[in-house]
Amino acid sequence: MPKLNFKHANAIYLHLPFCSSKCPYCDFYSVQYTKKGVGQYWAALFMELEDLAAKTENKLVKTIYFGGGTPSLIEPNLIKDIIKKIKNKFKVTPTAEITMEINPASVSEEKIINFKRAGINRLSIGIQSFNNQHLSFLGRKTNSLQNKKILKLVANNFKNYSVDLIFALPDQSLEDFEKDLKELLDFFPPHISLYNLEIHENTPFYQKYNQGKLKLPTEELDAQMYKLALNKLKQAGYQHYEISNFSQKGYRAQHNYIYWLYQPYLALGPGASGFDGNCRYQNLSNLNYYLDYYNPQRLDYYDLDDYNLEKLKKIDCLRDHKKNKIRNITCLKPKEKWGEYSFLALRTDLGLFYHKFYQKFGLEFKSIYKEEIAELKALDLLKENNERIKLTTRGKEVANEVFLKFL
Ligand code: SF4
Repeated sequence: MPKLNFKHANAIYLHLPFCSSKCPYCDFYSVQYTKKGVGQYWAALFMELEDLAAKTENKLVKTIYFGGGTPSLIEPNLIKDIIKKIKNKFKVTPTAEITMEINPASVSEEKIINFKRAGINRLSIGIQSFNNQHLSFLGRKTNSLQNKKILKLVANNFKNYSVDLIFALPDQSLEDFEKDLKELLDFFPPHISLYNLEIHENTPFYQKYNQGKLKLPTEELDAQMYKLALNKLKQAGYQHYEISNFSQKGYRAQHNYIYWLYQPYLALGPGASGFDGNCRYQNLSNLNYYLDYYNPQRLDYYDLDDYNLEKLKKIDCLRDHKKNKIRNITCLKPKEKWGEYSFLALRTDLGLFYHKFYQKFGLEFKSIYKEEIAELKALDLLKENNERIKLTTRGKEVANEVFLKFL
């Protein structure tokens, strides 16, 4: 089994795998929220931080991201404690972006304020839609009014926040989506992420889809919606800086940039995926395995006085585990690294700089992908100048097909 070795930390992703119910389209790993489950998980999370800190040379951290699951179900005090712990083990820059995903169904004004006090400086809100019928179809536990109320509270308390919207839903017309966009733009959020509905295996939607009970819009309508969004958001002054992401000036997502720039990052929690610069790893998507590994005594964080590292260390999970396995590690071959680097760079409006590719791999990008570049340029999917190559507007519409050429 290869071993992880982080030359740089850069970013930390923490997966908080608790939800109050399961949305039928979602394939992220999550379990039912219980206070006891969170208590045991928190003790384990502290230990994984110890473990990964020991594997990291340069401990500078520029971004922290709490994803899920539904991180907003977690008590702000616990968030405060884990941020303190991260700062204790790593060198977090004073301007670090610290993001938390929130679900409008599980936050109040008090919680929003307390997350800010805990150290969160950016929120990512899973609004998904302002249409009650669509929200109910997606299994969301909020309605349009509640979504707007939470959005307003967030805007009043956070300068930096992002909103997620899903489009290309069954029975959604172009006009429906235009209305969603309009209602969103009334708030003029600093950052917007747009995703079309994807059907993932092992979800209730997948079963329905296979039984012919769920019909997605045609590819043509899906493309029309995406184009509509590009136009509306451009008119409103947003920069379309990545396939699915739009921002006002100065509000690009710093955490995601670390992924797109092919830099290492740490990821903690069951189901979380990280990268040490050479190997990708994925923690097993099973909370019990995770607890067996990092908290075999099932200590409850709520029972530990404040933060008591010595007591936690008695869990003795930092030795080599011979029997238990916590993660799969895949070390990449050079060709795989070139491909990943290329498609991640091409996702952004900066594109791929030839000199950076050379600095990273000691090879000329244009020589490796000579035929692919010629083919994609002839199809008007890529454009280049002396220093870099980027997707064209057409290329953005069929980005996944372009990326496949490099993988
Ligand atoms: S979409 Fe979010 S809230 Fe819904 S099940 Fe997935 S992680 Fe939980």
